[in-house]
Amino acid sequence: MPLPLQPERSVVTVCAYCGVGCALEAQTRAGRIVRMLPWKEGKSNHGHSCVKGRFAYNYYNDPDRVRTPLIRDSIDEPWREASWDEAIAFAAAGLRGVQQRHGVRSIGAVSSSRCTNEEIYLTQKLARAVFGNNNIDNCARICHSPTQFGLSATIGAGAASQHFDSILQADVILVVGANPTEGHPVFGSLLKRRVRQGATLLVIDPRRTETVSSPHCQATVHLALRPGTNVLVLNSVAHVIVTEGLYREAFVRERCEWPEFERWQALVSDPRYAPEVAGPEAGLDPEAIRTLARRYAAGPNSAIYYGLGVTEHSQGSTGVMCLGNLALACGMLGREGVGVNPLRGQGNVQGGSCLGSWPHVYSGYRFVSDPEVRASFEAGWGVALDPEPGLRLPNMFDAAVGGDFRGIFIMGEDPVQSDPNQNHVIAAMRNMEFVVLQDLYRNETSKYAHVLLPGSSALEKDGTFTNAERRVSRVRQVVPPLAGLQDWEVVVRLMNAMGYATQYRDAGEVLLELASLTPAYSGLSFELLERVGSAQWPVDAKAPEGTEVLHLERFPRANGLGTFMLTGYVPTTERSSERYPLLLTTGRILTQYNAGTQTRRSANSQWHPEDVLEISAADAIARGIRDGEQVQVSSRFGSTQLKAVYSQRVNPGVVYTTFHHAESRVNALTSDRSDWATNCPEYKVTAVEVLRVAAPAGVSAASTQASEVLA
Ligand code: SF4
Repeated sequence: MPLPLQPERSVVTVCAYCGVGCALEAQTRAGRIVRMLPWKEGKSNHGHSCVKGRFAYNYYNDPDRVRTPLIRDSIDEPWREASWDEAIAFAAAGLRGVQQRHGVRSIGAVSSSRCTNEEIYLTQKLARAVFGNNNIDNCARICHSPTQFGLSATIGAGAASQHFDSILQADVILVVGANPTEGHPVFGSLLKRRVRQGATLLVIDPRRTETVSSPHCQATVHLALRPGTNVLVLNSVAHVIVTEGLYREAFVRERCEWPEFERWQALVSDPRYAPEVAGPEAGLDPEAIRTLARRYAAGPNSAIYYGLGVTEHSQGSTGVMCLGNLALACGMLGREGVGVNPLRGQGNVQGGSCLGSWPHVYSGYRFVSDPEVRASFEAGWGVALDPEPGLRLPNMFDAAVGGDFRGIFIMGEDPVQSDPNQNHVIAAMRNMEFVVLQDLYRNETSKYAHVLLPGSSALEKDGTFTNAERRVSRVRQVVPPLAGLQDWEVVVRLMNAMGYATQYRDAGEVLLELASLTPAYSGLSFELLERVGSAQWPVDAKAPEGTEVLHLERFPRANGLGTFMLTGYVPTTERSSERYPLLLTTGRILTQYNAGTQTRRSANSQWHPEDVLEISAADAIARGIRDGEQVQVSSRFGSTQLKAVYSQRVNPGVVYTTFHHAESRVNALTSDRSDWATNCPEYKVTAVEVLRVAAPAGVSAASTQASEVLA
């Protein structure tokens, strides 16, 4: 076995995978990365990492990387190589041409939460200041826009109230719709550590995940609810808290709007939310709901952590409001060990939310329709800005199918694979006249593109990421960009080619500009981050080195008080039926990341060579499905094939899969239903049927299999 190479230099940067944002030391030799080590000084990881950050980095020089700009006049033609200048000019002319033919609002832009804060900021500027409209979106909306909406509505800030280490002061940990031991492994280890020290773990999740039960971590209560019933169950928990008088009246009277509390109290006191009524509807033991509610309210320090299992629902925003309401009612905000904390999926989802990549708000969550705010951006950018909110990506797709939206710039996203209702997305992409894609690899979306610009990975550029605890850290260039330009430089070139003259010396100068227009980031600079390592926003004149715990004395609302939102339960219209009797829900595993674009190009793929369908033995046997057999999974929207695996992690009536392999086409199944407030797709509930693809020779009767399995 060859000896490990000795490094010549090392650079401390941030892992680009999950929202923990571990600080890593990248060691290089002769311009290649030879080792990635967890950085002891990292404030979010304290010298720990997982198998993704530690080992899955070789994608940066994978042979499949796009290394030269590619252009073509039609998606039916082969690609031809181009210089950067030629490709940028071609892209600019193509996008402007669409606008000349179909109007200023006929094009838009999408950035990614894998991009740096600076790139996300510049892409919104591209749409607003250069395209002249507010058609800008980011995958942060696809996963966590309900967080922004739901937490802002209740506690005034759509972000984690705590720092990760705060969990070490928690007596009770409530995890809802998240599986941190696999999705956020380093934070998951911290959680396990606290549970081993004696904290009570409560979990609400349809699946018996590793977080629920593993050798070092056992939940005291696990509510394995039927997918789609989060709001019903959380209202039922609230019902117990208010009807048994478990709320903290002193906190509510002092820190919250009391009349709103009374209105909410009346709503959740309704008998329909009594555990004895709601429990059976959600597939739960009523006594387990009561136990969970009493343990959470008792604290004394109870902390909530939640994930996409809350947000990716038709009532995703309502579910987040339920959590804000619970924390306010029980006085679980404003100190260490408590709080409401979204576990962000991608490395920079928080930055994707903060920095203006949504159609209705500029960076800092300030409305484009507000004349005063708009004037500050017009002064900063030197152009008049459109006061009308623009289109979200699903609306862009709808408009494309309808013929009103004809061109798009996509940075670091693969919506054809990642977005729901894949067939509709493909129809939209086909209908566009001009598509510019910037990405590391050819992907499903590049099949419909006219320009493919080489992207640069987080290992090849400078900038910042904001992790799930609001921590802004330096992304430092470890190796040169494979195709010569960092992503932010490409956006700036496109701006100039489209007639908006602008220049930045480096990414640090972009950070200074965004800080000048984004109050919570106003104190940030590369110099500060060099000095303090990382800082949690708000970083401003009052908190020049950042803020670990929010809401200590007041909530960031006009009157400083928290408020209660009414959270009536409205069942999703995506329901099981005779034809589609099972509910499919999805999630991720430790070794892979999202669509697998990067992790599958590493040895990590050996741990998870394919997505499989977890199905209860009872449901499988009823359909004559053998363990390990290929099955057809069909929904009202499409179908795909997966290998079925018997699982005790899912209850009968529920099936589960991951989405790390494009070939699995899981999003061919998912509906285009979305959160009522934010359009966040309802990925977590899809009614399906699962059938055998073909009966293996000599096997016919389900009863035969039953005897094999149950023996
Ligand atoms: S994937 Fe997440 S937990 Fe793992 S090393 Fe990267 S940031 Fe840390």
